[in-house]
Amino acid sequence: MLQKLLIANRGEIACRIIRTARQMGIHTVAVYSAADANAQHVQLANQSVYIGPAPSSESYLLIDRIIAAAKSTGADAIHPGYGFLSENERFAEACANNKLIFVGPPVAAIAAMGSKSAAKAIMSAAGVPLVPGYHGDDQDPARLRAEAQTIGFPVLLKAAYGGGGKGMRVVNNSAEFDAALQSAKREAQAAFSNDKMLLEKYLSNPRHVEIQVFCDQHGNAVYLSERDCSVQRRHQKVIEEAPAPTISECTRKAMGEAALRAAQAIDYQGAGTVEFLLDSDGTFYFMEMNTRLQVEHPVTELITGQDLVQWQLLVASGEPLPLTQEQIQVHGHAFEARIYAEDPANEFLPSTGLLTVLRTPPPSAHVRIDSGVIEGDEVSAYYDPMIAKLIVWGSNRNEALRRLVSALNDFRVAGVHNNIDFLRSIANHPQFQRAELSTSFIERYQHQLVADTSHLHDDYATIAALAELVQSQQCDKAWFANPGLQLNQPAQFSLSLQRDGQPYSVILTAHGSGWQRLPDQRVWAATWQQDRFRIQCDEQSFFAHVLHAGGDITVMTEAASIRLKRYQVLLELQHEQASGGMLAPMNGTVAAVLVATGDEVSAGQPLLVMEAMKMEYTIRASHAGTVEQVFYQSGELVSDGAELVRLSVSA
Ligand code: ADP
Repeated sequence: MLQKLLIANRGEIACRIIRTARQMGIHTVAVYSAADANAQHVQLANQSVYIGPAPSSESYLLIDRIIAAAKSTGADAIHPGYGFLSENERFAEACANNKLIFVGPPVAAIAAMGSKSAAKAIMSAAGVPLVPGYHGDDQDPARLRAEAQTIGFPVLLKAAYGGGGKGMRVVNNSAEFDAALQSAKREAQAAFSNDKMLLEKYLSNPRHVEIQVFCDQHGNAVYLSERDCSVQRRHQKVIEEAPAPTISECTRKAMGEAALRAAQAIDYQGAGTVEFLLDSDGTFYFMEMNTRLQVEHPVTELITGQDLVQWQLLVASGEPLPLTQEQIQVHGHAFEARIYAEDPANEFLPSTGLLTVLRTPPPSAHVRIDSGVIEGDEVSAYYDPMIAKLIVWGSNRNEALRRLVSALNDFRVAGVHNNIDFLRSIANHPQFQRAELSTSFIERYQHQLVADTSHLHDDYATIAALAELVQSQQCDKAWFANPGLQLNQPAQFSLSLQRDGQPYSVILTAHGSGWQRLPDQRVWAATWQQDRFRIQCDEQSFFAHVLHAGGDITVMTEAASIRLKRYQVLLELQHEQASGGMLAPMNGTVAAVLVATGDEVSAGQPLLVMEAMKMEYTIRASHAGTVEQVFYQSGELVSDGAELVRLSVSA
């Protein structure tokens, strides 16, 4: 058995691996960058080694540093987690060369699946069904366009060495082809240092169903049911579930066996996932094999009762698989929701900053939280902005879904934007509840899922003012218990906020035992109850949490969570200075500048492409005008809020 394990990763997955290793009596070594000196994975591990500055290219992606950390601490094995070096064959090779066990498949298996195009050739030879497409080496744009024509539009451009939905573009017709190819190549080059592309027929409404496989060093191979990961945004998974609902036993078995053929075709060892697209008629096509543990592995753990990290460590130690295919049983249903620091109302831009409040639902036999951060930690711009994974179990899909919604209701997050309301809208959506799943689900219902909450803004501002009022009186317990009857109660209370850069005040006027906000006729009242406010509005009452973070006030109810801004003179000044300019929506780098000084542009025209967290964001003209100044060049770093391009207004 392994004695000492180095985890070449950070965040929730590093914490997840450390937990199992400790249970198995394996000593753990964390590695960390300058941004992670106090991170949770460092606190949990027995030992830790500093490996470099915050950017992952200078720390978590440096093979030599990580190998040196393993050797200096006497580790005998390295677990790569997911992302970073987990599917890097040179890393697996470096481990072997240094007599370190790589907790993952053999180098040759990683290499075989590392290129999506080479993988397709192997799978086709092994009799695993493929989506029609072009996987060749000729990368001449004219050849690729011609192949797209032959396949028939719409086609999907994919980075051959890609992952995580990056470097992927749907192309609807040949007119769009060249621009899409350029942009996909640019994204692929930045993310994977390789811009080779392949083409596939784009299926319009498929499901993403993937099979968890496991193989040991003794020739045993099993599959542990499947996961449905159809609910995706920009080809990235948002909510996953297991088992995949509504598929027949026959399809399920055929997919499981095809996945095992895929694994055996490359002499696989360890945990792997074979991803398929499932068409509405039950036909399925191999998409790719991920040669690592997946983000969504916990749903499989909850329905099979197995610890997949434990299985990985056993297999890496040379032990046989703990169960045979017949012994693997599926119980109930599980969901995973990925909770991200991102802003659904603003094109899901990553949101970085201090997590001033993070309260998770209490873990139980049915609710699991895998997280790498705690309250007070920073969501850094350098890494994936995941806050936590929420995983729930139920004896059937409906029960699991109810638990998912109720656990989402119990999250409290402030300091960064987050997607919890968005996840809850998905979980509550009738089509999702009926398991009518497809990879276009989010795109199709986007306007329902990202609800426009602007009409709630006024009421939530009133709640924020009421909360402030109650808090300002907090020392006076008697008043607290009975707000209306105190002599020292002010006749008026005001809170200054701003919206879209404009200041406005919420003025509450005492009215009987409550408060009115003119011109509204409604009477409001608030009381503090344990950890939340009970808000009364006319005859109705409900609960609200009011969380403070810097100049932000987050008001959360079961219906929505709204982030309000306190009015600050300084902020207004900054806004005035920047008006007429296009501002950077986040920290990042300029990937391409598409206009020059003097250009006439129309409203909505792309001006500049920014890249953050390996994804591209297009900055568009907010109005028609002439470009007066471009402040950055391609490759430059910009910080959130910086003015990128200034436009004049067209006469
Ligand atoms: P990545 O490795 O970047 O995650 P994948 O090849 O796994 O890329 O594809 C990611 C997602 O893109 C899939 O889950 C699916 O939703 C969608 N997708 C991939 N190929 C196709 C296709 N041929 N037709 C329709 N959707 C596809």
